[in-house]
Amino acid sequence: MPELPEVETVRRTLIQLVAGKRIERVTVSLPRIIQRPSEPEAFAAALAGQTIRTVERRGKFLRIILDELVLVSHLRMEGRYGVYRQDEPVELHTHVIFHFDDGTELRYKDVRQFGTMHLFAPGDEFVMAPLKKLGIEPLDESFTLDAFKQKLAKKTTKIKPLLLNQEYVVGLGNIYVDEALFLAGIHPERTADTINGPEWERLYEAVKTTLQRAVDAGGSSIKSYVNGQGEMGMFQHALLVYGRKNEPCNKCGRLIDKTVVGGRGTHICLSCQPLPKVRGKKNG
Ligand SMILES: [Zn+2]
Repeated sequence: MPELPEVETVRRTLIQLVAGKRIERVTVSLPRIIQRPSEPEAFAAALAGQTIRTVERRGKFLRIILDELVLVSHLRMEGRYGVYRQDEPVELHTHVIFHFDDGTELRYKDVRQFGTMHLFAPGDEFVMAPLKKLGIEPLDESFTLDAFKQKLAKKTTKIKPLLLNQEYVVGLGNIYVDEALFLAGIHPERTADTINGPEWERLYEAVKTTLQRAVDAGGSSIKSYVNGQGEMGMFQHALLVYGRKNEPCNKCGRLIDKTVVGGRGTHICLSCQPLPKVRGKKNG
């Protein structure tokens, strides 16, 4: 699933490809992608005649800003956009086509069919699902150490699922949570309330650093992720633990372990991310 850096890469690419283009009509061949309005015909009718102004991002969602509407799009597992000429053959699994008046088309392809699109009047998108409950943007100025601790520090749940929960901090998925916890030297099964002051500082910096480095590299291309222009991101070559099971840790040389935390495959260096012994545990 694309995480913040991949969605950011798609956003930047889409701006170059579609900003300023006027939508003539829209074809929807898989109605379930369209979540709002409920009728795909109404979705298509509302978009006809609208010009794409820019593309913004909120967490892992794209916000496509039009003249009088905002299209909120989530790629979920394998959704992807591409711009084509009208006469180019339409690939299998293309579910929504935005036909522009200049003879090009923005096509949305989604093999797994989990992606969603919601249409809103500008501003309404922030007070309704799916954006309503989203937490802090980790690359914004509003993401401070205090704000981060305030959201999480008293929780008695494991830190990995907390970081994955988009209601606290947005944009992190399985790859970048594993990377950030490794960089901070924190075991993913530690409960948030056991993490001390210096560790919160390290984790805060690690979240920002990991995401910023990945954004700078154009995201990670793992499995089928490809950005809007069909280019591959490069960050997968810089991953420290994710996808590196049984490879040596870059810091200490111990082989990276893979385990399951909160139902998610989790990569960890057990030397760099030790799990402190629970006090009072039987037999020491
Ligand atoms: Zn290590």
